Amino acid sequence: MISKTVVVQTIRDLTAFVHTDEIKKIFKESSSVFIQIFIPEMEADWAMSIEAVLSETFPAAVIVGGSSMGGIVHGGLCIESTILSITFFKKTMVKGFIVDGSGNDSKALGKTLQQKISSSCKNIAGVLLLATTSNMNVAEFLTGFSNLKGTFPVFGGGSGNVAETEDSLLFLNHEVQTKGVVAVAFIGNYIKIEAHTYLGWQALSKEMVVTEMDGPWVKKIDDQPAFSIYHRYLDIQNDENFFLNVSEYPLLLKRDGVEYAKTPVAANKENAIKFLSDIKVGETFRIAYGNPKTMIDQAQVIQDRIDIFNPESIFLYSCVSRLSLLQQDVDLETKPFEAIATTFGFYTQGEFYGRVDNIHLLNATMVAVSMKEGAKSRKRIKRGSQPLLSENSDPFANKHFQIISRLVNFIQAVTEELEEVNKESRILAERDYLTQAYNRVKAHEFVEAEIKRCQRYDTELSFLILDVDLFKSINDTHGHNAGDAILVYLVKMLKQEIRDIDMLSRWGGEEFLVIMPETDLEGAKISAERIRKTIEQTIFPKGNHQTCSIGVTSYKAGERFEETIDRADQALYEAKKGGRNRVVAK
Ligand code: GH3
Ligand code: MG
Ligand code: MG
Repeated sequence: MISKTVVVQTIRDLTAFVHTDEIKKIFKESSSVFIQIFIPEMEADWAMSIEAVLSETFPAAVIVGGSSMGGIVHGGLCIESTILSITFFKKTMVKGFIVDGSGNDSKALGKTLQQKISSSCKNIAGVLLLATTSNMNVAEFLTGFSNLKGTFPVFGGGSGNVAETEDSLLFLNHEVQTKGVVAVAFIGNYIKIEAHTYLGWQALSKEMVVTEMDGPWVKKIDDQPAFSIYHRYLDIQNDENFFLNVSEYPLLLKRDGVEYAKTPVAANKENAIKFLSDIKVGETFRIAYGNPKTMIDQAQVIQDRIDIFNPESIFLYSCVSRLSLLQQDVDLETKPFEAIATTFGFYTQGEFYGRVDNIHLLNATMVAVSMKEGAKSRKRIKRGSQPLLSENSDPFANKHFQIISRLVNFIQAVTEELEEVNKESRILAERDYLTQAYNRVKAHEFVEAEIKRCQRYDTELSFLILDVDLFKSINDTHGHNAGDAILVYLVKMLKQEIRDIDMLSRWGGEEFLVIMPETDLEGAKISAERIRKTIEQTIFPKGNHQTCSIGVTSYKAGERFEETIDRADQALYEAKKGGRNRVVAK
């Protein structure tokens, strides 16, 4: 395969380009032609006049394209221009499909497209998807689409230019849609396709939780109106520029160890924020920002892998937020691809990436697709470690770029420090200093919540009050430090004796309260007896033996907690009076 790329200024230039001897020769030796066109405006007439020239010259060519916020030509940024790439395949077949998305059922649309592809293609090596992501329910579309059989990669992006209009343009040959999806299937045994993605966005804020949702709208975050996080931390307004201002600051979530950025596309009057891809209640995230250095570092890792694959063409589908973050410096990320193979692409609104049975709509990422036909013999070009970095770039832009990297680093370090301090102070506020058991304040909090749960679900809740027998004499004979060591040891032991859902707290000096949710009096008694026996048989530090007495009770519907605890105290008192080292339930 051979890819040729050109910036189209006039139809006359284009005509001259496609009629050069070189192109004619390549075309003659090709089995199929695949063309991608990206234009900066919603000008269907312009796109179609280009298409007319191309389809006349290359009659069976699959010609796809759309509007976009920027193109990538020979690995470099190309804005406000019409760009195209013509790929001539030697043995690979290419088939294009387009569906009209103006109906409301995006899932059915996905299914229709999937069926169209399945019924006419066998031996698929990869599928390119282009969609008008800003006006479609892409998550729904993908659920319908993902029934295609196979394990090949799916890649691509959302067309459109949100800076100009919410609408976007998409076409397959002479069929144009303003809402819909185009798919291109690459078919045959000869073509090898590898798709990669990477992010380069870094978490900046503290961790937050999605607490309320309604369809694609996140209504509450940490129980506050969702939009307020963008206002509080970034001073972004809820106005018509919301999307543009917010696009560099997606939410970063982790699922199964993989980081995903989710960029909101809109905010409404109720201060809810809308996402094109799925988010769930209870998910935690941080507000993120692109770190130029991380982006370039990650690009290099992928470029090294692609270099080994040794492709003939590379196609990039890169999120427009990378462009708005790096501006002209975006070339530092994309140019090195060109040192490997002809590199063409566009800046997207949402990126498609995955295997056919698990396709994601990503945000803020770069999707890099490498292709080759058969085994390639071309010698690999030796790339420098940082090609093109300093010499061609504006020194002021680079300075700016360095400042961002350092600030991102700074904020991240400060956030981590604060979270560490918060964690420590939370432990101090909740735990007893000597034994690290929960303190009385935390125990009260826990009891309150458990009593509520008990009332709501009509479950049982039991308590053990455990008091060490004749502890004074330990202090008197072995000293206070020895007494302390026994208490620490006792807590460690008790933690192993109770279940994960139980809570152990230090209720007084040598007195401990165990709170046992979903446990009735009988069950609590059995546990208490087991604990008593274990303690009796334990050899404590310095060879000491120790016993304890335990009062057991259960919460009775309608009573105050003080009444419950009084009853447990009475049971404990009876255990002591009865000779110690025993359990009394009341
Ligand atoms: P019993 O409960 O069996 O009636 O006898 P006791 O000796 O354990 O009872 P009492 O309540 O009279 O004494 C409790 C002792 O526990 C008194 C106090 O010095 C000791 N104590 C309380 N907190 C600590 C502590 O943190 N460290 C040490 N070493 N001793 C403690
Ligand atoms: Mg005691
Ligand atoms: Mg006591």
